[in-house]
Amino acid sequence: MDWRNISEPSLRDIMERYRLSKCEIIKVLICLESHFWYLHDAMGRTIIVSNRLPVKVSRDKKGGLRYKPSEGGLATGLGSIYREGDNIWVGWPGIHFDNITEEKEASEKLREENMKPVTLTEQEIELYYEGFSNETLWPTFHYFTQYALYKKSYWQAYEKVNQKFCDEVVAVANTDDTIWLHDYQLFLLPGMIREKLPNVSIGFFLHIPFPSFEVFRLLPWRRQLLDGVLGSDLIGFHTYDDMRHFLSAVSRICFISNQHGQLNKDGRTVEVDSFPMGIDYDKYASSSASPDTLSREVKYRTSLGDQKLMLSIDRLDYSKGIPARLQIFDLFLEKYPQYVGKVSLMMVVVPSRDSVDQYRDLKEEVDLLVGRINGKYGSVNWTPIHYFYRSFPLNDLSAFYRMADVALVTPMRDGMNLVCKEYVASRLDKRGVLILSEMAGASKELSEAIIVNPNDKHQVRDAIKRALEMTEEEQIRHMEIMQATLKKYNIHHWVKLFMDRLVDVFDKQQKMTTKILDDTAQQKLVESFRKSNNKLLFLDYDGTLTAFTPNPREASPDEELHEILDLLAKKENTEVVVISGRDKNTLEEWLGQHNLEFVAEHGVWVKSKDQPWKTSDNLDNSWKEDIRPVLEIYVNKTPGSFIEEKDYSLVWHYRKVETGLGELRSREIISHLKYLAVNMNLQVLEGNMVVEIKNLEVNKGKAAAKWVSTNNLDFILAIGDDATDEDTFKAMPEHAYTIKVGDNRSAARFSMKEPKAVRSLLKQLIEE
Ligand code: UDP
Repeated sequence: MDWRNISEPSLRDIMERYRLSKCEIIKVLICLESHFWYLHDAMGRTIIVSNRLPVKVSRDKKGGLRYKPSEGGLATGLGSIYREGDNIWVGWPGIHFDNITEEKEASEKLREENMKPVTLTEQEIELYYEGFSNETLWPTFHYFTQYALYKKSYWQAYEKVNQKFCDEVVAVANTDDTIWLHDYQLFLLPGMIREKLPNVSIGFFLHIPFPSFEVFRLLPWRRQLLDGVLGSDLIGFHTYDDMRHFLSAVSRICFISNQHGQLNKDGRTVEVDSFPMGIDYDKYASSSASPDTLSREVKYRTSLGDQKLMLSIDRLDYSKGIPARLQIFDLFLEKYPQYVGKVSLMMVVVPSRDSVDQYRDLKEEVDLLVGRINGKYGSVNWTPIHYFYRSFPLNDLSAFYRMADVALVTPMRDGMNLVCKEYVASRLDKRGVLILSEMAGASKELSEAIIVNPNDKHQVRDAIKRALEMTEEEQIRHMEIMQATLKKYNIHHWVKLFMDRLVDVFDKQQKMTTKILDDTAQQKLVESFRKSNNKLLFLDYDGTLTAFTPNPREASPDEELHEILDLLAKKENTEVVVISGRDKNTLEEWLGQHNLEFVAEHGVWVKSKDQPWKTSDNLDNSWKEDIRPVLEIYVNKTPGSFIEEKDYSLVWHYRKVETGLGELRSREIISHLKYLAVNMNLQVLEGNMVVEIKNLEVNKGKAAAKWVSTNNLDFILAIGDDATDEDTFKAMPEHAYTIKVGDNRSAARFSMKEPKAVRSLLKQLIEE
C-alpha cells in the first residue's frame, strides 16, 4: 500500500480495522514522512471552555468596546494551545452587549483571536454565576456550608447556561476534537456535550477544592452534578485529597466504584487523577529582576524604613482567613512585644464580590480589625499594618514579593493558592520564609514551607516568630528546594501533563472499545446462524442470561429463560453450553431438564450431553483448609458478606455490604492472599461484587477450548459479562461471534447492554 496516497476516509478505516490508536497511526505516518495534512486531520483541534474568556471586554468612555487580555495563569498556560491553528477558546467575554451589532462586532474581533463568546444576559449572570456558582457551589466546596444557598432559581439558571455553553461548543466541535473544560461553573457541560458528541474526547479540571462526601452530599443537586462531570474522559484535581473526596462521592451517590482512579460510567472508562497546577515561573522570576520592579522596591523600602516586613495578598473572600490572620498578628505582637516597631504586615486585599452581603460584612470586619490593631500598637513613626483594598500591577506585586521577609499565606481553604508560589519564584536571592496553611492545595507540594493549621492561632503566632528568626542558611536551604519544585512543575508542564494524559486515555478507550451489537450486526449474526450447519453457543449465566440479585440463590431461571434455553437446545445441529462460575449442583438443579451442556465453577467441572460430570484428574482442593480461615476473618469484620464454597473454589461475596466497605475489604483480601496464592498454585479473581479463589490451571477458556477443537463448526457464539468470560472470548477462533454484556471494554468483538438484550437475541435465533 502506498501510504502517501491514503485519503482521509481510508485512514479512518485503517485505524478502525487494525484498532490503531491516534498515537500509533501518527507514529506510522511520521515514519513514512507522510503528509502532515492527514496527521492534522487525524488529531482534530483543541477546544478550551471556561466561564470567562482569556480577555476582558469592556466599554470605554465613548461607548466603544475595549479588549484587555487576561494575565492569569490559566490564560498564560493555555495561550500556546488556543492560539494555534483552528483551536478555539469558548467562554463569556465579561460584558452584556447592548445590541446585536455590538455583539457581532465583538464576535468577529474575538474570532480573529481564536475565541468564541457565549453571550449571557444580566439575569443569567446573576443567577448562574453570582447565584449557583458563587453562592451555592463556592461556599459548599470551601466548607463554608453556613453561607450556601440552595435556590431552585439558581439551579435552573445553572442548567440553562450550561446548556447554552453546550450549544456553542457543539456548534464548532467535531468528533475528532479534544475538549478541555474548566471549573465549577461548568459541572454539567461534560455530560451535555457527551450526549451530542458521544465519541469526542473530553477533559475537565476543577480549580477549587472538592469537599468530602459528608459536605458534598448536602447539595440537593449532588447527583446531577456528578452525572454531568462524569461525561468527561479525564477529570483532574489539584490534589490527591480532592480526587479521593470526588471518588468517594461518586461511589456513594452514583454507586460507581473505582480502581486506581479508573471508573466505568455507562460502559465508558473515566479516569480521575491529580494534576497540581503550577505558575509561569519564568514570568515571575524575570519580573522580579526587571529594573522597573527594582526601582519600585527602592521607593517603597525608603518610605517603610528599616524594619522587617510580612506580606499577605488575597482576594476578599471568607475562604482566605483574613480576619483570623489579623487576630494572629495581634496575638503575635502581644506575646512578643520585642517585635513592636520592628515588623509590619503589608496586607493587600483585592476587591471582590463586595455587593454580596457576606463579602460586605467581611470587608467591614477586616476594616475594623485593621483599625483596632493599628490603634492598639501603632505610633507616630510605625504602622503595624499597611492595608490596601485594591489590586496592583505585576511590577508592584513583584516589588512586594522581593521586599517581604515572610509571606503569610493562611487560607482556611484554597484549591491551590498561587500567591505562595509567586512569592517563592520571586525570591531571586533565595532568602525569605513562607508560612503556608495546610488547607491550601499548594501545601502538598511546598513541604519546605512552615506548614500551619490556620485555626490554631497560637501555632501560627509562634510560626511567625520562628520565621523571623530563621537563619539565612536555613532560609536558603528551604527556598532552593521549593524553587526547584516550582520551576519543574510550572504551568506549561501542567498543561502538557493534562493534555498528554487526555490523549492517552482516549487511545486506551479506542483500543478497548468493543462495538455495540447494533441492528445491522445483529441481523448478520442471525443470518449466519441460519445458514450454518454446525453451531455452538457458549452462554454465561449470571449477568448474561439473568440480572444480578442481592442473594445469588434468588437468580434462579424464570419461565421465559427456561423456554428460551429449551427451544434453543432443541434446535438442529446446535450445541448450547452454559458456561458459569456456579457450582455443578445448582446448574443441574436449575437447568438440568434441558438438553444443555455445562461448564461449572469456571471450568472445574464439565458435562457433555448424556455424560456424567467430569473434572481434570489432578485438581486438588486441600488448599481450602488454609484459605477458608482467612476469608472467615473478613466475614467476621464485614457484616453482609459471606463465603460460598464450591468443589474447587471459595468465593467471598460482598454485594450486600455497605458501599465502599465491600470494595475496601475485597482489596484487603486480594493483597492478603497475593503471595499465599502464588505459592499454593491458586488464582484470585475479582468478579462482580465477589472475590474468588481457585486452582490456577482452571479457567473458562481452557474448558471451552475442548468443544471448539473437537467439532467442525461453522457458527460459534460466546456471550458473557465479567472478567472470567474474557478467557472464553480469547479461546474462540477469529470467526466466532463474541459478545460482552454490560460495559464495552473487552476482548469480545461486540457488546450488549443487559441480559434483556441477550434474551431477545436468543429468541431471534430460535425463530430462525
Ligand atoms: N493578583 C493580582 N493583583 C493583585 C493581587 C493579586 O494580579 O493586586 C493575582 C496574584 O498574582 C495571583 C492571583 O491574583 O496570581 C490570586 O490567585 P490565588 O490562587 O492565590 O487566589 P484566587 O483569587 O484565585 O482564589
